[in-house]
Amino acid sequence: MSRRLGIYVQVPFCQTKCTYCNFHTGVVSAARFAPYVDAVCAEIAGRREFYADAGVEIPEALAGAVVDSVYIGGGTPSLLDPAHLRRMIEVIGENFVTDFREVTLEADPETITAEKAAAWRAAGIGRISFGVQSFCDEELKAAGRMHRREDVYRAVPLLREAGIESISFDLIAGLPGQTRESWRESLEQLAELRPEHVSIYLLEVDEGSRLGSEILRGGLRYSAARVPTEDEMAEFYETACEFLERAGFHHYEISNWARPGFESRHNLKYWRREPYLGFGAGAHSFSGKQRWANAHDAAAYVAAIGTGRLPVEQLEAVTRESALEEELFLGLRKLDGIDVAQIERQYGVAIEPRFERLMSAGLVEREGSWVRLAPSKLSVANEVFVELMK
Ligand code: SF4
Repeated sequence: MSRRLGIYVQVPFCQTKCTYCNFHTGVVSAARFAPYVDAVCAEIAGRREFYADAGVEIPEALAGAVVDSVYIGGGTPSLLDPAHLRRMIEVIGENFVTDFREVTLEADPETITAEKAAAWRAAGIGRISFGVQSFCDEELKAAGRMHRREDVYRAVPLLREAGIESISFDLIAGLPGQTRESWRESLEQLAELRPEHVSIYLLEVDEGSRLGSEILRGGLRYSAARVPTEDEMAEFYETACEFLERAGFHHYEISNWARPGFESRHNLKYWRREPYLGFGAGAHSFSGKQRWANAHDAAAYVAAIGTGRLPVEQLEAVTRESALEEELFLGLRKLDGIDVAQIERQYGVAIEPRFERLMSAGLVEREGSWVRLAPSKLSVANEVFVELMK
């Protein structure tokens, strides 16, 4: 069977900057969208030369791989003209062997119109990943989001009418002003709209966002004082686990739930260490042998591609040791866990002893040769990963 490959396209543009956002995205004039799309298409079409020039080696087994998943993320790629999105998908089709099983577009609710939804569907997009974040307008406002609850209610029927068969909602636990009650309310409204897939993220507190930086250093501008505590966030996560299970969702990865058959084919590649190629500014790639990322700055990326050079910022060979570590901390993100016997065979090392202490502390559990995070300990998964890497 041919090797499967995922393609990620990064569109690093947004309408405004959300206060909690730590991604490399920018608010730019719409006049910059078309040159950016041209650069991405040029990167896809000229990838062999670009890679050779940048020191990226594509393993033989990947040369004829079949692209079965495409994920257009951001940023807010739904801001682009649908014709731009269609062109990028067509260029992928012209330059790879394809058997598209899942083509996802990240979209913000306020950017959706009936015309756009129909054009997306006609371009082959069958899955929309929706940045809902909360159904509470106060929380959306405090986080600097452009949309409100009613935009989500307006957009979902438009997507369904256009024939989008899979909708995923993102929620964030930890927004300023969020309470036990408002979190529950968001979960209930989410269930009412019947998405096929749900992702729940905990607010990340770091210097990379304005809110994160205010939490760390103090200040009054971004409502840092109204951010729930870590314990409250963990409680929200646990409430979501119970709620979503009762609502018929299968919890398949720490942050992801799906109705049966709607697990994200593309994102599963990340946790299974399957290959993917990323195109666009800041896009990451993994060939099985190397990992690399393109330069984050969109203008620098467009300029470099224009001069026939791919600006690769981080290119590293995946050593046997790092591959093994990835097997553990990426694999354990899946609720099924990892097959310890299979990994031991593949890498020729004993990893069983690494789990002994975690097992006696009740943090992981075992079934046959499989080890997984204990379902009641998912909110402390990071502690398990730290312990495992010691
Ligand atoms: S829409 Fe997403 S990528 Fe854009 S600023 Fe907000 S969180 Fe960041």
